[in-house]
Amino acid sequence: MSTHSDHTVVVLGAGYAGILAANRVQASLTPEERRRVRVVMVNPTGDFIERVRLHEVAAGVRETAAIPLREMLHELIEVSLGTVRHIDAPARLISVETSAGERVESYDTLIYSVGSMAAVGVPGVQEFAHLLSNADGAESARMRIAGGRRDQRIVVVGGGATGVEAAAEIAEQHPAASVTLVSRGPLLEHLPAASRRSVARSLHEFGITVVEGRGVVRVLADTVDLSGGTRIPSDVTVWAASFAVPDLARRSGLAVDSIGRLLVDEELRTTRYPEIFGAGDAVRPPASVGSHLRMSCAMAMPLGAHAADNVLALLRDQEPTWLNVGFGAQCISIGRRRGLIQLVDKADQPRPVRITGWAGAMVKEFVCAVIATGSPRRERGRPGSLMVPSGPRLTARSESRWPHRPQGNRARR
Ligand SMILES: Cc1cc2nc3c(=O)[nH]c(=O)nc-3n(C[C@H](O)[C@H](O)[C@H](O)COP(=O)(O)OP(=O)(O)OC[C@H]3O[C@@H](n4cnc5c(N)ncnc54)[C@H](O)[C@@H]3O)c2cc1C
Repeated sequence: MSTHSDHTVVVLGAGYAGILAANRVQASLTPEERRRVRVVMVNPTGDFIERVRLHEVAAGVRETAAIPLREMLHELIEVSLGTVRHIDAPARLISVETSAGERVESYDTLIYSVGSMAAVGVPGVQEFAHLLSNADGAESARMRIAGGRRDQRIVVVGGGATGVEAAAEIAEQHPAASVTLVSRGPLLEHLPAASRRSVARSLHEFGITVVEGRGVVRVLADTVDLSGGTRIPSDVTVWAASFAVPDLARRSGLAVDSIGRLLVDEELRTTRYPEIFGAGDAVRPPASVGSHLRMSCAMAMPLGAHAADNVLALLRDQEPTWLNVGFGAQCISIGRRRGLIQLVDKADQPRPVRITGWAGAMVKEFVCAVIATGSPRRERGRPGSLMVPSGPRLTARSESRWPHRPQGNRARR
């Protein structure tokens, strides 16, 4: 990497948050700023993964959810391929594991946006289940299902939106297969009863067996064991249950919450190292601005945008601002021809309005293509173009910011 600049902004992780942040910073720079500021994206591979489409990959609707990074990023952003293994915050250095060995790179400002992955605490998940949260897992599920018997038994684990989307997509594409969806609690329990009934009807029409209120205690090569002793035969098990985060921040000695998310303040900076910003699934803002946030692409992008705006503010000796973002809708695909768009208020609480059926499917596809993938890419040419609803009313800044008020891991996705 070249070092002929005064200030290096390094972005860790080319997901929804990282790409949006990197593009917004780079594309906002004036010609004079461009001469002294460089933006570097560090990511393990040369692809951006459209994670919101991984259930489509598993079902065989599409072969891949990968888009080359160079098609997503501003041309002046440098790409450094590798996995960051350690952040030496006092020295402002990162250790990057690459195919050619370890490399140490320096930064002046860091944006931590390493995202999330499947939580794999249940015995056998890593060995025998296909993890829908990453490209390899979705791809291996696709190949296994495509190569299986027509009447194969497929078990999808996870009663949130991701599990529902995966089960529906797979059942639609493989109508002769017997698909079971297992949910530890009630299916989509955060949604209003009418919306849940509508989804349940669609799943029933696809022939999906729904098992609610039973947790998975073990996955084996050909069965899934549930709490209470029930054993479900399974030729292919697809894991779409809760999310975990990389332990990079914890390993690097940075302040994290109980599941390892980087703790950031209202400006999305760590308090001890204010040159480290965070965005996306891997961070947790304080309750004063973020008690309503859940891990989602819908939040990763606004957080990436806000981190970028504050990085730019500091580069220009301006005051960074507090995060102020809210939700508008929860969008769930139910196969290719149906969807559920549940309108929510800024705090993510359901409103009594929903769009279902074919119209819901159209809206969801628009959201995936134009908003989820389009917005980070658009920022390379039109920085600031992402439109986000403002958040619920902010609470007063607390006297002591650490530790944060307890918040659950609201990974409904
Ligand atoms: C099947 C599925 C469907 C979904 N559908 C929706 C939906 O409809 N709506 C919605 O809002 N959300 C949805 N989600 C959730 C959404 O995909 C995530 O919340 C979102 O990807 C988070 O974005 P991010 O930028 O924080 O992280 P990611 O998109 O996970 O990107 C993180 C990046 O960091 C990289 N990285 C990780 N560790 C390191 C490291 N040590 N060094 C360098 N780079 C690293 C990763 O390789 C990756 O490129 C879905 C998820 C799945 C799995």
